[in-house]
Amino acid sequence: MLDVGFRTIGAPSAWPVAPLPGALGGSLTEPTTQAPGPTFDPEALRKKYLEERDKRLRSDGLSQYIDLTGRFKEYAEDPYVEPGFTRDPITDESEVIILGGGFSGLITAARLRQAGVRDIRVIEKGGDFGGTWYWNRYPGIRCDVESYIYMPLLEELGYMPTEKYARGQEIFEYCQMLGKHFDLYDNACFQTRVTKIHWDEGLSRWIVETDRDDVMRARFIVLGSGGLHLAKLPGIPGIESFAGKAFHTSRWDYEYTGGDQTGNLTGLKGKRVAVIGTGATAIQCVPQIAKYAKHLYVFQRTPSSVDVRANGPTDPEWFASLEPGWQRERMQNFTSILVGRPQEEDLVNDRWTDVWAKAARLAREAAGEGAELDPAEIMQLADYEKMNQIRARVEEIVADPEVAESLKPWYNLWCKRPLFSDEFLQAFNQPNVTLVDTDGRGVDRITENAIEFGGESHEVDCIIFATGFRVGVPTYQAGEFTLTGRDGLDLADKWADGCKSLHGVYTRGFPNMFIVGNKMDAGLTTNVPHILGEQSAHVAALVKRCLDEGIETMEVRQEAEDGWAATMAEKAVDRQKFEEECTPGYFNNEGQKDRTTIFSGGYGGGPYEYIELCDQWRESGFEKDVDITYAR
Ligand code: NDP
Repeated sequence: MLDVGFRTIGAPSAWPVAPLPGALGGSLTEPTTQAPGPTFDPEALRKKYLEERDKRLRSDGLSQYIDLTGRFKEYAEDPYVEPGFTRDPITDESEVIILGGGFSGLITAARLRQAGVRDIRVIEKGGDFGGTWYWNRYPGIRCDVESYIYMPLLEELGYMPTEKYARGQEIFEYCQMLGKHFDLYDNACFQTRVTKIHWDEGLSRWIVETDRDDVMRARFIVLGSGGLHLAKLPGIPGIESFAGKAFHTSRWDYEYTGGDQTGNLTGLKGKRVAVIGTGATAIQCVPQIAKYAKHLYVFQRTPSSVDVRANGPTDPEWFASLEPGWQRERMQNFTSILVGRPQEEDLVNDRWTDVWAKAARLAREAAGEGAELDPAEIMQLADYEKMNQIRARVEEIVADPEVAESLKPWYNLWCKRPLFSDEFLQAFNQPNVTLVDTDGRGVDRITENAIEFGGESHEVDCIIFATGFRVGVPTYQAGEFTLTGRDGLDLADKWADGCKSLHGVYTRGFPNMFIVGNKMDAGLTTNVPHILGEQSAHVAALVKRCLDEGIETMEVRQEAEDGWAATMAEKAVDRQKFEEECTPGYFNNEGQKDRTTIFSGGYGGGPYEYIELCDQWRESGFEKDVDITYAR
């Protein structure tokens, strides 16, 4: 066991630091259930973290994963639609074509409607609106950010989420409500994959081709194809030889398991089930599977940090008492705290913001004692304290000390997405649940009927891959279709060495094209719909302006793009050391040092500055930074 006795405050300045809350005097309060005392040895923890990271670093990095293509393509098939759908090809013209019917596309379409744009078409590869919430229907699925700030446009729809963290089914149905409310269904093309997009100079129109032989024209296109749509499998030797049932969590097979998203998986009775992975998806579905499977083996490579969830029903009286404008204010409050901006109150008040409250307290204590600690040092100490609390929670909940030890995460909180559950750790107290801890290695082999690790073979009837997605790779970068702008310029070529744009939203050579939800060159937030809402309102305002003023094309100037690149460089937060010391995962490109990561590619000034900057630019930057042509 690691020595956690307090010796010295000598924590590494590894935290990619933002200003501390409230000049360290904000009124953030910590939850009452704290780990006992600030007694730990930062150096010992750092050493342990690095040892654990080293176990997991691998030379194949991202290429360890298999895409759901080729002989694995049946893993990607849509289980939620009837096979054999056909329709006639479409060859018409729309004012705006939006790629993607998930949150990015839906919110943008909604904002365009609010701006008075009537002629909108959404193209979506799934069978309905919803995106992530269309594909992910596994049992136990819920949003991991509070639904009052996660579900967009609640005030516009007059909708009250039933719980603080709503079920996936509710969010999916809410996406359908958005589609109906904003009248998007009639013109939408579902089960349609875009194959090619190119700019027609003569027509000044985008031409969008699809796998249903459509050749559609559009004056504007919006790429809103999200970042969690490419599921991946682990490249485990023998994976193709398994003869039992196997599927990815984003294509859940309820015909096999029985039940639905609320559970009742009666088809698993008598079955031996394996779940591979212990990330955000696994922690939600494992407790449900554990209730029904004869035996459940959970194969873990890296433990997750699993904090208190404390879900509960929405109080209708409280909800009714919220003043107009409350949702944006609440979103801003949450995002502010997560980037260390002073706030009077923590409105969401859950464990997402906890580490900042700890940092604020440590800073106050240090100031009280006249000690001088740099903010990065304080954040690192707060993080150690936070993770000690997470590890103490494992010990409290999991009865078997050896299993508890295996479930403890040894890395900084933000090396992976922090998780929350009041059921996951508890599931390991059930006699029919076995944790197979691979100590950072992953399983050795899959055979026709078993999973092997460390000389032991676990026979299973079913393998459920909770192994995630190629996070942050939108379709236009994933080679799903070609996208060619002026003079045959291919977007993949233009961006071969990284995203080049203004605000991550428009890029030279691609007139009348907007990107919503890009992770590179743009503002980043934990609560993704917040930034999507801001970006889509921005795009809708620009499209409206073009339509109102008879602007035929708008295209960002080279100087503006270069200027943004310079701003990005100037604002960049040096996260290299922090990310290098992290355990591998999709936040740090599986530990591959030489690549831009999700965080390092985002706007370093934080989401607030980014939003303000886009707002100001609409007022004063448009003419300066954009080449405009008018209809002849
Ligand atoms: P993650 O990438 O978070 O987790 C994948 C898991 O698979 C990890 O535990 C990983 O281990 C494990 N794994 C990968 N390869 C192997 C292997 N060879 N052997 C054993 N284990 C392996 O994917 P998720 O689907 O859980 O989540 C992805 C993202 O989707 C989340 O971070 C979140 O942004 C979003 N999401 C949001 C949800 C919500 O809001 N409700 C719910 C689910 C997902 P290792 O850590 O070692 O790589």
